[in-house]
Amino acid sequence: MIIVMKSNYTPQQLEGVVSVVKSRGLTPHITYGVGTAIVAAVGEFHVPSLDEFEVLDGVESVKRISQPYKLGSRQVHPENSVFPIDGFTIGGDDIALIAGPCSVESRSQILETAHAVREAGANALRGGVFKPRTSPYSFQGLGEEGLEYLAEAREQTGMPMVVEIMSQTQLDVMLKYVDVFQVGARNMQNFNLLRALGETRKTILLKRGLSATIEELLMSAEYILAGGNTQVILCERGIRTFETATRNTTDINAIPVLKQLTHLPVVLDPSHATGHVDFVAAIARAGIAAGADGLIVEVHPEPSKAVSDGKQSLKPEAFAAMVKQVKAIAEVMGRRVAPIKKPVTAGW
Ligand code: PEP
Ligand code: MN
Repeated sequence: MIIVMKSNYTPQQLEGVVSVVKSRGLTPHITYGVGTAIVAAVGEFHVPSLDEFEVLDGVESVKRISQPYKLGSRQVHPENSVFPIDGFTIGGDDIALIAGPCSVESRSQILETAHAVREAGANALRGGVFKPRTSPYSFQGLGEEGLEYLAEAREQTGMPMVVEIMSQTQLDVMLKYVDVFQVGARNMQNFNLLRALGETRKTILLKRGLSATIEELLMSAEYILAGGNTQVILCERGIRTFETATRNTTDINAIPVLKQLTHLPVVLDPSHATGHVDFVAAIARAGIAAGADGLIVEVHPEPSKAVSDGKQSLKPEAFAAMVKQVKAIAEVMGRRVAPIKKPVTAGW
């Protein structure tokens, strides 16, 4: 952080600034200029807010020189984080495909979807069992029964499960089943939940909030990383803008921006980003071309009967066609879709 003193600052005011800098655990380095002075405040992990210094007597301006997030930053960790999830890795050259329904609705629905997406090349199965619905009267999810069905699907197909957690109260039951915890857009700043997930050693897929900035997303990831959990995947899922033609607006810029700012893997959710089946494949392709490390896509065997997000859910055939296109784009990018390691078991 750089603190620039006003041209008419007094030695007492400079002393005051230096003592506040020290009291925040930072080391002050003073440079005297013509009629002014600059205090560089340097510290490893303490991240003070700029306002604390802006209000001090004699201070002209304050500027950050390092990111407010540390553990997630490329400044601190220049290499990409690459970590294994059952059967594949994420964050390296391979592109990970996560697919499945918005909600687990029944045993047959999740098993049918799991086999279909695995056949098409998916690496992991998504499915919500606690759903963050806008209305309390809408379907809220099957709870533990849904986790049982996902476990059966994992058994049959070899695909790990990605499931949204909405509250710490769900942690105990979910820990028994879940491979990757999804934090939904509405919970991106549920700091207690993030801290609780930071205590686990499970992979976390953290979705960007509906109106969250890229920096806010990275600060939320920092809550998980600060607990010692290094396995955080960031997810762009579209943001709210003035545009109403699509459910959200894909911030495609966020992908290369995040890849520059952080070493964490970045995936795109083209389903929630667009909200409509007609646009999912186009935006999935764009995401891979922009450098995403993976996709999380909603797929349903009968979208018209889906209890949630049917409008944006691909049929298995459409998903398979999308995977072919994604594979071609991955190749252009010098990457490949992560191969499926476990054999698909027959019958269910
Ligand atoms: C979901 O993945 O089904 C979901 C609710 O997503 P988001 O949190 O991005 O809205
Ligand atoms: Mn959904």
